[in-house]
Amino acid sequence: MSKAIYMPKGKAGEYAKYACNFYVGCSNDCSYCYCKRGLLGHAMGGTTPTLKKCFKDEDDALKVFERELAANLQELQNHGLFFTFTSDPLLPETEGLTFAAIDTCIDYDVPVKLLTKRADFDVSSYYDIHLDSIAFGFTLTGCDELERNASTNAERIAKMKELYHRGFKTFASIEPVIDLGKSYDMIAKTIGHCDLYKIGLLTGKRNYTPEDVSQFVCKVNDMIHRHNFFNKEEVKVYWKDSVPGFLKIERTDKCFDHWFCVGADYDIFNE
Ligand code: SF4
Repeated sequence: MSKAIYMPKGKAGEYAKYACNFYVGCSNDCSYCYCKRGLLGHAMGGTTPTLKKCFKDEDDALKVFERELAANLQELQNHGLFFTFTSDPLLPETEGLTFAAIDTCIDYDVPVKLLTKRADFDVSSYYDIHLDSIAFGFTLTGCDELERNASTNAERIAKMKELYHRGFKTFASIEPVIDLGKSYDMIAKTIGHCDLYKIGLLTGKRNYTPEDVSQFVCKVNDMIHRHNFFNKEEVKVYWKDSVPGFLKIERTDKCFDHWFCVGADYDIFNE
């Protein structure tokens, strides 16, 4: 593995053990984009998705991808493959290669997780026979004004509901939490259509205190608990390390001691 498939570290590593990046740059142009900041900024900061330089073209990228997939098959079958951390895999410019890679994953029995801020992509009915091996994730911040070229949060929620009711697994990335009230609203609007929430705080300057976050954690856990109890469902939440870190508490704290609070390694395909 190296050119297409790799093992992410840090905050990205909390999302997936294995990930695939074909492109750098992203036309969603979020103002808080981590790809525009710091040391990564120069190499990955563009608003035009561009195939990584290590690939000659998209056909070459797909061949390299298949080679790396086949060489690490058992691990990838066990842990699945995440798309993507350096762009959006379902942009009009990137979705062609993404779906070609999904087809390869299906051929090799590797489950796929996609994370997007788009709602304008089509999922052909062909994929309805592979419901158990494709999960669609939507980043939901509630802050359209900071994600100026992405589909709106309302459009993403509508797409999540459509795919969930078709039978696909769905997850929500409630990250970065910019405004606690808006993030809570995103969860309230998707609960019942979402199998898993992954919640993480904004890096850097935030407009909330540890007390505010502590209340937010309690309110979200209470919402999920009530939803599961009254609907006999098993919606899960993963509180990313940034949350106990900001609260200066351990994961063993009672805040996270609920049966529906899962770890980073939770497998959405084998609940
Ligand atoms: S969708 Fe992700 S990669 Fe694209 S601009 Fe927004 S934060 Fe960056």
